[in-house]
Amino acid sequence: MIKDPWDPYWSRKAHGRHVLTSIEVTATNHCNLRCEHCAVGDLLTTVREQHLDVEMVIDQLAQIPTLETFSITGGEPTYSVETLRTFVIPLLKYAKKRNLSTQINTNATLPVDRYKALLPFVDVIHISYNYLDVVDFHEIAFDKNKHPVNRAVAQRLYQTMNENVAELAQLGAFVSAESIITERTANKLGAINRRLAQMGVQRHEIHPLYPSDFARFMRLLSLDELRLCITRLLDERASHVWMLFGTLPFFWCSDVPEDRALLERLTASPNVTVRNDPDGRNRLNINGISGEMVVQDFNSLEPLGFVQREGIMQAFEAWQASQSFTKYNCYCPEAMCTGPNLIVADTYYRGVEFQTRRAVMTKGG
Ligand code: SF4
Repeated sequence: MIKDPWDPYWSRKAHGRHVLTSIEVTATNHCNLRCEHCAVGDLLTTVREQHLDVEMVIDQLAQIPTLETFSITGGEPTYSVETLRTFVIPLLKYAKKRNLSTQINTNATLPVDRYKALLPFVDVIHISYNYLDVVDFHEIAFDKNKHPVNRAVAQRLYQTMNENVAELAQLGAFVSAESIITERTANKLGAINRRLAQMGVQRHEIHPLYPSDFARFMRLLSLDELRLCITRLLDERASHVWMLFGTLPFFWCSDVPEDRALLERLTASPNVTVRNDPDGRNRLNINGISGEMVVQDFNSLEPLGFVQREGIMQAFEAWQASQSFTKYNCYCPEAMCTGPNLIVADTYYRGVEFQTRRAVMTKGG
C-alpha cells in the first residue's frame, strides 16, 4: 500500500483524534499567470509585498510537536528570487532539518534554476497541468488576466514549463502534476495523464473543480459527470504512474450504488490512491504576508488568528472546537475515510448529516 504522509487518515488512526501534522505556508500572492480555475485568484496581487520574519515563523513551527509535513504555496512561490532566498528556502531548510515531508506548489513556468535551488529541500514538486497544447495553456492560464496576452508569450511559458518538468524529473525530482476536472479538461484527462507519464512525472493528482475565487465563474460538473469522467480516466491512464485523487465527492456511506462501485474500482486499481482532505483535519494554512491562519487558503471562513500574535496550536484547538469542524468530523476506519471537507459538503451535500452516516463496505471494498 502506498502511504501518503499528507493524508489525515494516518494521524487520525495513530492518535485516536485529529492532530496538527501539517502546515502550509502561502509565500506570496504574486503570480505570473491568472488561471481560470485559480482557487486563490481573488488574493492575487501586483502590489509590493513584505513577507513575515522567517525566524518568527520557524519559532512558531517549532511549537508544533506533531508536525510531519510542510508545504509552500502561493501565488507562484518562485516569482520573486528575493522571497525564494529569504523566506521559502529557509523555511524548507528548517522543515528538512526536522525530517518533515516537504512540498512546493508551483506553475513551473519560470527559469529552471529557481526550481533546481529547491531540490535539496523538497520531496514533492507539485505543479498544475491541465493542457494538451499551447492553445489549452493560453486559454486556461491567462483567462483572468486583466489584459490580453499574446500567443507568443504563452508559447514561451508553455515550452519553458514542459522543459522544466522534464529536466527536473530527469534529475530525480518527484514531480506531482495536478489536473482539475473541469468542463474543458473532462475528456482530455487520459491524454494529459499519458503525456505527463512521457515527461517523467511520477504522480498525477486529480481534483474536481470547486467554486472558490476565480473558479466560481465556471460550471461545476454533476456527480454523474464526475463519475463518468473518472471511470474513463481509469480506463485510459498510464497505469505505472501513481494517480492520486483528492477532494473527491464520493463516500462509502453513499446509498448510490454507482458511487460505491467507483470507490471499489479506485480501491482495486494498482497505483491509485484517494487522499482524505487534510484542510482543517491535520493541516492549517499560514499566510506568509499577513500572518492569517486559516483552515484552507481558499475558504471564506474568518481567519483563526494571526501567527505573529496567537499560537498555532491554540488556533488549531479553537478550530477543532468549532461547529464548522465538528459538523463534518466523521470517521469510518473500515473505509479509511475521514469525511468530506467544507467545500465538498457545501457543493454537493448540503443538508446531509454525515455524523449520522456510516460506510457500507461491499465485497472488494
Ligand atoms: S467517514 Fe463520513 S463521509 Fe466517510 S464513509 Fe464514513 S460517514 Fe461517510
